[in-house]
Amino acid sequence: MHTPYNPTNTDTEGTWMKSWTISEKNHCDVLVIGSGAAGLRAAIEAARQGRNVLIACKSNGGRGTSTHIANGGFRVAHEDFTREEHFDLVMKGGRFINDRRKVRILAEEAPTAYEEMKQLGVTFRREGAMPSFQGGKALIQALEKEAVRLGVKTLNSTAIVELLRDGDRVCGAIAYDTGAGAFKALIAHATILATGGAGALYSFCDNPPHATGDGYYLGLAAGAMLTGMEFVQFYPLGAYQPERTALLFPPVLGNLGVIKNVDGEDIYQKHDITAWPAASLARDTTSRALYSEIDRGAGVGGALLLDLRKMTEEDWASSPGVQEKRPYLRRRFNCDEEPLPIIPVSHYTMGGIVINDWGETGVEGLFAAGEATGGTHGANRIGGNAIPEALIFGMRAGQTASHLSEKTSGRELPSESVISDAVDRWRETFSEALGERTEEILDKVRGEVWEKVGIIREGTRLQSALESFDTLERDRLPRLPTSTPREVIAALEARSLLLIARMATNSALLREESRGAHYRSDFPEETEDGMFNTVVRLKGGKLEFEKIEVLAPRGAENE
Ligand SMILES: Cc1cc2nc3c(=O)[nH]c(=O)nc-3n(C[C@H](O)[C@H](O)[C@H](O)COP(=O)(O)OP(=O)(O)OC[C@H]3O[C@@H](n4cnc5c(N)ncnc54)[C@H](O)[C@@H]3O)c2cc1C
Repeated sequence: MHTPYNPTNTDTEGTWMKSWTISEKNHCDVLVIGSGAAGLRAAIEAARQGRNVLIACKSNGGRGTSTHIANGGFRVAHEDFTREEHFDLVMKGGRFINDRRKVRILAEEAPTAYEEMKQLGVTFRREGAMPSFQGGKALIQALEKEAVRLGVKTLNSTAIVELLRDGDRVCGAIAYDTGAGAFKALIAHATILATGGAGALYSFCDNPPHATGDGYYLGLAAGAMLTGMEFVQFYPLGAYQPERTALLFPPVLGNLGVIKNVDGEDIYQKHDITAWPAASLARDTTSRALYSEIDRGAGVGGALLLDLRKMTEEDWASSPGVQEKRPYLRRRFNCDEEPLPIIPVSHYTMGGIVINDWGETGVEGLFAAGEATGGTHGANRIGGNAIPEALIFGMRAGQTASHLSEKTSGRELPSESVISDAVDRWRETFSEALGERTEEILDKVRGEVWEKVGIIREGTRLQSALESFDTLERDRLPRLPTSTPREVIAALEARSLLLIARMATNSALLREESRGAHYRSDFPEETEDGMFNTVVRLKGGKLEFEKIEVLAPRGAENE
């Protein structure tokens, strides 16, 4: 039994009933969901076009985003690295099933994004072949400053739980304000999903804990198509900690130091990994090598050990980034005396919402950018390409969304029923609200995914993971409590993670080969037949998976 939606409901008998009431309505031209690099850049662009822009984010502004904790790698053409080489590198990393048009745009426009960030006050330095900025915090600060200057308004700690859908058109969202403990309607002519990835799907991850890929759920439910959900990137050199890890060791440390198993075998030699630095250019093979050693019990206490004790002063001095981290590594890990425990951690979601060159999702009024989207990186992402991509496609989505909102500004506002339908959709998911323990469900999903849909996959284990997800979705998800702000957020995230777990598993089953970050022990080779993209849509309430021709095949990048 649940209370019907009633916008004038002033019931005060219980928080549960009260929580279904829409406390206020906000109107804007462009609603941007997310305040990382993609969201902020989209908002800046829309504001530059004179639109009234509202950002809603689950995080505390730019804090709590993946962008905020990015290391600073920024892949861009320069005097020793041409745009063509940039294009080729990304295609090769993605094992040639990337959306070639997006890769072309990325390689061509990264220099402009780079110059723009410099103009906004971000400082870069060159380390090896790639420039890097002083970490994500500095980037966020520069973007936020510009957004504020342009009059962009931000609703912090505000989670979008449903999109508003007027027929086939998206016209804003239902948000839950965790500070006020209240639902709000955010009505917009154009809505941009810049919700980031779903790293927090796995037991071990370096993403912020709330990186639960809510945008994949929201986009799919609104009619958008997703692609490449089988491709999840793991970063090999995560610090192993009993609780979920959020700490990474720089890629070059993996090569300057030594990683050995308990038998004393050098992992890079044993697994024939020659890329330098392997943790940047060969994340898939390196993660697989480390994982398989840990899995067969050749690690120490569930991890492998990265030994820096034989690094010379010259080694340390060879990389300014590593040199700067040295005092911290000494203080925190006693790295001169002890090896560092490492484990591969989930790092980046290659799959996501399909967009065209201008951020359009194919659903009227709905745009997307950044890690929420899929296709650019194909089967695997080369380091330093995510931030440029988020900025470039954020800018593009901001521009197109502005044009749409300008064209439709005279349109009638959505009716009350559009809002009540969205609230009903949210409420129906949790109709029983019988006090399940959400954390328990989240841990169960993460554990299943880590073991069965993680770095090494196999058909029967993938099938068995699907069965667990079925049971969790059918029997436990509807019983999640949603009375307190914490419970609402946890329920929202559990719903997203279960859906993403299912999409990753089904897509992994469809791909009977190994390619990039997707490795199947029962199909260990990359095959010619694997030159396709997986896509998923929601039809009649059911997920439909399909193999399709590569979204932008050879030659499309020059059209
Ligand atoms: C540790 C680490 C280091 C990295 N280093 C690099 C690097 O050096 N170079 C590089 O190119 N890339 C790097 N990456 C990848 C890169 O940082 C991310 O891919 C990129 O920042 C994603 O930007 P985004 O704007 O798409 O998403 P994010 O920055 O993750 O922002 C997502 C936003 O969406 C909001 N959101 C999500 N769901 C909801 C919801 N339901 N309602 C409201 N808001 C919501 C979040 O709160 C957040 O504000 C790194 C990633 C990690 C985790």
